[in-house]
Amino acid sequence: MDYFDHYFKIVKNLENAANSNSPLGVGGNYKYVFLDLDDTIWDFHANAKSSLREIYELRQLNHYFDSFDQYFSIYAKRNLELWDLYGKGEITKEYLSLERFSHPLAKVGVQDADLALKIGKEYLEMLPTRTALVPYAKELLEYLAPKYPLTIVSNGFVEVQYRKLKSCQIEHYFSHVVLSEEAKALKPDKRIFEYALQLNNASAAETIMIGDSYEADIIGARNAGIDQVWFNPTVNEIDHNLVSSFIVRQLNEIPEIF
Ligand SMILES: [Mg+2]
Repeated sequence: MDYFDHYFKIVKNLENAANSNSPLGVGGNYKYVFLDLDDTIWDFHANAKSSLREIYELRQLNHYFDSFDQYFSIYAKRNLELWDLYGKGEITKEYLSLERFSHPLAKVGVQDADLALKIGKEYLEMLPTRTALVPYAKELLEYLAPKYPLTIVSNGFVEVQYRKLKSCQIEHYFSHVVLSEEAKALKPDKRIFEYALQLNNASAAETIMIGDSYEADIIGARNAGIDQVWFNPTVNEIDHNLVSSFIVRQLNEIPEIF
């Protein structure tokens, strides 16, 4: 898809919003903004990769793997599958935390639960201290914060999400931080969004959710009757057939919308 298709998509989104049953019309008179944290504001991918690279060297995992890239690609694939299972409630957080590090080792014939545990522990300590933000995230927060109360709505773990906000010094932008463990529901379950609405004393119609995951953020917000901005840096033709109120490839496009 080229730039012009993308531009037309934005126009189409605005038309859809204008023709929708939303009482707010184009651009909406949104009063509350919900944001996903990982890979929407905080560059999870970059931060995870740099943390694991450091641990890879620290633990001399080059004894087992051809390269860090080999290790990382095995890890990343399994990690994604595990988060999917966790999101569906099929595995526990404890299983996810260990399995994502024991799996890459097992793949190269190393059965060492102790090493996997150590890596997992070091990773959880290191990761939240990393400070890479998604491009234009800081600018977006600067733009939104004076205009709307901002609320993080995230499935991430309590003990790491707050530390990420602190490390990046962005916690002051947010009125509320809603995490699945506290809300007792995981996105896309609408109950986590309803919990966030309650905290803000907001209605769904005056709220908009910004997130990178179609499954968790977009379907989830829609389940709760909340408009959505799908942040999708690699938007493609297939994505075009998926429905969201708005779609952007970069966060700096959001001020065009509201
Ligand atoms: Mg995300």
